[in-house]
Amino acid sequence: MRYSRLFLPTLKENPAEAEVVSHKLMLRAGMIRKLASGLYSYLPLGLRILRKVEKIIREEMNRVGAQELLMPMVQPAELWRESDRWERYGKELLRFKDRHHREFCLGPTHEEVITDLVRGEIRSYRDMPLNLYQIKTKFRDEIRPRFGLMRGREFIMKDAYSFDCDYEALDTTYGKMHKAYSRIFERCGLDFRPVEADTGSIGGEASHEFMVLAETGEDLIACCTECNYAANVELAPVRVLADKVEPLEPGWDMEKVNTPGKRSIEEVSIFLGIGPDTLVKTLILLADGDEPVAVLIRGDHELNEVKLKRFLGVEELVFADDEAVRLITGAPPGFAGPVGLDSVRIVADQCLETMTDFVIGANEADAHCVGVNWGRDLPRPEFADIRVISPEDPCPVCGGGIELRRGIEVGHIFKLGIKYSEAMGASFLDARGRKRPIVMGCYGIGVGRTVAAAIEQNHDENGIVFPVPVAPFQVIISPVNVKDSDIMEAAEKLYGQLAELGIEVLLDDRRERPGVKFKDADLIGIPFRITVGRRLKEKNEVEIKTRKTGDSIVVSRDKALESIREMLSSACP
Ligand code: ATP
Ligand code: MG
Repeated sequence: MRYSRLFLPTLKENPAEAEVVSHKLMLRAGMIRKLASGLYSYLPLGLRILRKVEKIIREEMNRVGAQELLMPMVQPAELWRESDRWERYGKELLRFKDRHHREFCLGPTHEEVITDLVRGEIRSYRDMPLNLYQIKTKFRDEIRPRFGLMRGREFIMKDAYSFDCDYEALDTTYGKMHKAYSRIFERCGLDFRPVEADTGSIGGEASHEFMVLAETGEDLIACCTECNYAANVELAPVRVLADKVEPLEPGWDMEKVNTPGKRSIEEVSIFLGIGPDTLVKTLILLADGDEPVAVLIRGDHELNEVKLKRFLGVEELVFADDEAVRLITGAPPGFAGPVGLDSVRIVADQCLETMTDFVIGANEADAHCVGVNWGRDLPRPEFADIRVISPEDPCPVCGGGIELRRGIEVGHIFKLGIKYSEAMGASFLDARGRKRPIVMGCYGIGVGRTVAAAIEQNHDENGIVFPVPVAPFQVIISPVNVKDSDIMEAAEKLYGQLAELGIEVLLDDRRERPGVKFKDADLIGIPFRITVGRRLKEKNEVEIKTRKTGDSIVVSRDKALESIREMLSSACP
């Protein structure tokens, strides 16, 4: 490809609208342009990278026996009613009517459509295992689309669905897909971790997320420093240490103290001269709309809403507003406490079970209670693991250290079991002729998000440093002066030879200063740059520069081809 013919509008300045580096660089490198919130056009360079990732995904999906198909984006409401998701899915589901007033939605995912497809086709256990996938645009009306391709409203996803006779067979399929996912992200040149993930309201069955490690990641993951345990913090259990199991005897009497205007944990602990770990905060939440729940958490700990949701078995959980807090507790926000909350369900974090002589809100303005003890001063509530794991906690598997890291969720695999097949009547006849529901799995990869994550992880102050397997071109040839016929002749020849070898090469034939060309080559992140210039005239030599290391070598013109081949093969084993 000739640069002068390529639609590649690069930008010198960082666009104001972009917050994270991948978004900035994708705009600057002319990969994407925004149409409206969460809607992007892929320009030729961006599309090339997307296709690279898709190619890797296809190869690895096909390798484990998954077959590609393509399903419609517009999906009828009836199917979503069958799975009971038409009402439940929330506002991300864009619902609309056609000219006949029939209801439809834009597919945010395809469980309903695929289950509808196979229920008409899979009849017997002999038709399985079956694994089908597509690479397709999805639409989710995200509340906060941001970070460019990272969280779009329209985005490209690879979604696969597996169909097995029983859970044992599903385990085998799931294991294969787990390996395939690891290979995909390895081949993309990414530093990633598979982590245990929350299964949401479906509950019970396994799920893993594939996280690309990056500071800007929206997800927090708990990794063990000793074993290979890694989990989304949403799910990571907190293990109670053996020496914390026996509660101490109460040392103090309960006493109400004045704490005028001291609402936050920090304010109260400074005012009373005690550590935040002596305080118990009382949070008032509303479950599934209107059921109040008082939640008790140690002052220095953080509530884990996903764990709490699971414990309560509810779909939705929101913090009560000031008005509701007043109504439920009788106290202004900041002074709520569990005393006298007789008609409200109270759930306390498990580590409060052994606490003695703690401090709580007194349920009246400007007052707290100190020296509080379970049983004596207030009834023992329900205890459960409902807080976020912290680096002070032990690894739930081996007891080693816990480190919190940020990650970008690029893939998610999930054992669905029979949720959809049961609801939608997708069954088969087993070897003994009995009718049974098909056991399903689903497996997603955000293709655009993977590209964004690759950039988030691989860049420097000059621009993108693409891993070779996903780079839009592997080599760029930069002749320093296009008016010099010797230089151009050599550059053209190299260009032809590289292209002949199947190497993706971009010839920067623009009438630009070398500085401009080098800057653009660095910005768009092409792994190897061949400079044809002064050295050619003097010694018939060219320079090959590696984008990642900044190292350059000088080789004779005849050796350039061989050097590039070697460099590429060592970068793409
Ligand atoms: P998130 O928690 O980030 O909203 P999700 O858990 O809802 O994602 P899944 O339903 O598991 O997403 O979708 C599979 C994959 O699709 C995700 O792992 C992610 O890579 C990608 N994905 C999901 N939502 C978006 C989006 N709005 N923009 C780009 N990619 C997305
Ligand atoms: Mg997910």
